[in-house]
Amino acid sequence: MSTGIIYHPDYLKHQTGHGHPESPDRLISIMDRLGETSLLKELSLIEPRPAGEEDILLIHSREHLETIKSAWDKGFTSLTPDTPISEESFRIAMLAVGGVLAGIDRIMTGEIRNGMALVRPPGHHATPEQSMGFCLFNNIAIGARYLQKKHNIERVLIVDWDLHHGNGTQEAFYDDPSVLYFSTHQYPHYPGTGSTHEKGEGKGEGFTVNVPMRAGTGPEEFVKKFRDALYESVLEFSPDFILISAGFDAHKDDPLGELLLTEDSYREMTQIVLEIAEKACKGRILSSLEGGYSLTALARSVEAHLRAMTDFGRQKA
Ligand SMILES: [Zn+2]
Repeated sequence: MSTGIIYHPDYLKHQTGHGHPESPDRLISIMDRLGETSLLKELSLIEPRPAGEEDILLIHSREHLETIKSAWDKGFTSLTPDTPISEESFRIAMLAVGGVLAGIDRIMTGEIRNGMALVRPPGHHATPEQSMGFCLFNNIAIGARYLQKKHNIERVLIVDWDLHHGNGTQEAFYDDPSVLYFSTHQYPHYPGTGSTHEKGEGKGEGFTVNVPMRAGTGPEEFVKKFRDALYESVLEFSPDFILISAGFDAHKDDPLGELLLTEDSYREMTQIVLEIAEKACKGRILSSLEGGYSLTALARSVEAHLRAMTDFGRQKA
């Protein structure tokens, strides 16, 4: 069984305007890099399908769906000041969600061992009711619910190592003990949430784990904290599937953050998650692209992440 990537050139058609960091160039840079190295040939290329409205409604309200669906036709060019849209953005956002769902389906049928959805727009800031922070629909949160509803998966672990706290994902599962949301992020920073005191509520108390990192935290300290906190979190939560909100903006070269990770840090963190997945859930991991705004650092970090996945699969084959 191999590692898959889910990609479609239509992901470039969500236009954010000149100078916006969340640009189509991000995916071009990643695909170019995978093509230049031998890695692309080792990966199974999977076509996404558009998500259905019923998939979006697993997490989002009907009102949120309709707002995005009709925004362009009503003359809007952005959903929030930092979340611009273009003519095809609704369709592409549906294809981004569908990319995650297609990856999940292939892993559940055993066609691929693990994989990465190379999609945009990203998703982890989108709350059930609100687009924000470059995100329209919450791709990863919808994926978690889809696993439960369509594949009868009970417990899902979401590991979010993006520079920013995934406030939308946290909100979606804040009172839910069946989805453990684990996040490392620069703190304090956008969007303001993600303190250690935010732990979930009601039955979900203890199933939100925030590991804030101070600006300037170096790679060794970061990866150690990541490993220790993640292992502690999964001691009593044995996930049946692991999703990764894979942003690469905690890289030292990223223009939006002040954390200092390297490509090698992403390789190490991927290996840590792979080890947990191997023990807990037959290695079932799907990552989905979130942030990462230095084109070079992003491409190299995605390469390191995918290389760790393919190497791990080979060792186990
Ligand atoms: Zn981010």
